Amino acid sequence: MVRWDVNPIYMTKYIKSIFFCTCLFWAFTAKAQDNATYIKAGKLFDSENGQYVSDQVIKITRNRIAQVGSDIEIPTDARLIDLSAYTVLPGLIDGHTHLMTLDDLNDETPMSDKLLYEGDALRVLRGASRAKSWLESGFTTVRDLGDSGAFLDVALKKAINEGTTVGPRMFVSGPIIISEGGQVPGLLHSQRDVIEDEYTIIRNVDDAINAVRLHLTYGADLIKICANNTPNVTSLTIDEMKAIVKMARRYNVKVTAHATDDLAVWEAVTAGVDGIEHGYQISDTTLTLMAKKGVALIPTDISKPLFHKLYDITDFQWDREKNMKRAKDRYTDRLQRAIKAGVTIVTGSDNYLDLEMPQGEAAKNILIAYEEEGMTPSQILRSSTYLSAKFMDKEEELGVIKQGAFADLIAVKGDVENDFANTLFNVVLVMKDGYIYVDTEDFVKEIRVSDAVLRSYEGDYELNPELTISIDKYGDHLMARSKSQGDFEFYPKSDTTFYAKDVNLQISFNLNAEGVVESFTLLSGGEESVAPKQQ
Ligand SMILES: [Zn+2]
Repeated sequence: MVRWDVNPIYMTKYIKSIFFCTCLFWAFTAKAQDNATYIKAGKLFDSENGQYVSDQVIKITRNRIAQVGSDIEIPTDARLIDLSAYTVLPGLIDGHTHLMTLDDLNDETPMSDKLLYEGDALRVLRGASRAKSWLESGFTTVRDLGDSGAFLDVALKKAINEGTTVGPRMFVSGPIIISEGGQVPGLLHSQRDVIEDEYTIIRNVDDAINAVRLHLTYGADLIKICANNTPNVTSLTIDEMKAIVKMARRYNVKVTAHATDDLAVWEAVTAGVDGIEHGYQISDTTLTLMAKKGVALIPTDISKPLFHKLYDITDFQWDREKNMKRAKDRYTDRLQRAIKAGVTIVTGSDNYLDLEMPQGEAAKNILIAYEEEGMTPSQILRSSTYLSAKFMDKEEELGVIKQGAFADLIAVKGDVENDFANTLFNVVLVMKDGYIYVDTEDFVKEIRVSDAVLRSYEGDYELNPELTISIDKYGDHLMARSKSQGDFEFYPKSDTTFYAKDVNLQISFNLNAEGVVESFTLLSGGEESVAPKQQ
């Protein structure tokens, strides 16, 4: 993991500390200077249009994309990440996660084990670790849809946003709003309180109304309901769902519904939800209604590699190929009919099973599943970026690489159009909010200057008659000291040019024909001043 200092939170902290130590640095007024990062992209995915463009430059200022184009000039001393040999994609979005849940496939009582023995502290710590694996796999945003105790998802989201822990941007639902019994059939009646901690159980329309208010009070970004409670038999009524949707509209948040069969989907769509999660069985009539009402489908299908992994872990003895084919045929039929009907497909892994691999990697298999079911790589990538962001009303900031969007992007190695699966798992760079979290090829190299060269710059330099600056070697970089204006550390950009981290100051040493240092040029606030070296 590599963190790069282009984040505004860090900038603000730095700026504050600068104001405390020196009001005016070396008698120059600090003015905004180009502290941008430039990325050269060999191939860039235009997620809005589902097309690739070649040889683009992305200019990043702090945590946002400032400019994208083919004719952007890159300053010679700029921070440059050269991804000319790679494909750059917007950070992926997983629209259906349960970061706070992981079921052991061979544990016969996984749900009760989780609810009764895990506890909030351990659960969030485990969730944080999973969140990191999602980010490292290339998902810079997730929509976390419950199974996260009493608003533990809100806690994890806060911890990630403030930088306490590392993970994708989270948009969270809080507990699932659900009917009696939740998704835990067979629990003892005397133990039903356990379910109340995990879900928001509603028993009538009034409960439904208050549930939305309760969720928004405690920090939910969206509402997740269970139209039917698979694997439990109970379900919400249309009136209860309508009340939830009406309240959500009042507060301008979206409602998405777990619905597995056609009746549940139809009822949820009729009630006015924005998205259908799973939707394993949906009739053409219901799909037409979804398309007409602009309801998205989030198919949480299983890829063939994950089916095999699942069979291995559970030691499945039946005809695996036949079993897998039956499931895949059903998924494919439903997905193709949905696309044909004009339903928007939003990516969602629903990964909560321990498949003995990093959870983010398992989650990424959802993209493979869609390819197996007939979607093209660009359709899939568009769904996992732009369309997923649009579903959250965030397509100006997320899921796109364009001016004004967050600097959330990934780079992959390989031929993404013709070798989708392999390329997708060959992520070489992950940037979220301007920070780099994955850098497998050392794109961001620390520039090293030899001790001898650093020592050759040591000495006093007169910037003006009132201000002399002493330069000394300081570890692997330089320290600049002045009596009246304080000390600043300068790091190498090249053998002769050094910059002060997060302060808009740069010094370039000027050498004569014999290679002897004569002066340095200070660049501050866009103005240059030459300071001759004192003998
Ligand atoms: Zn789920």
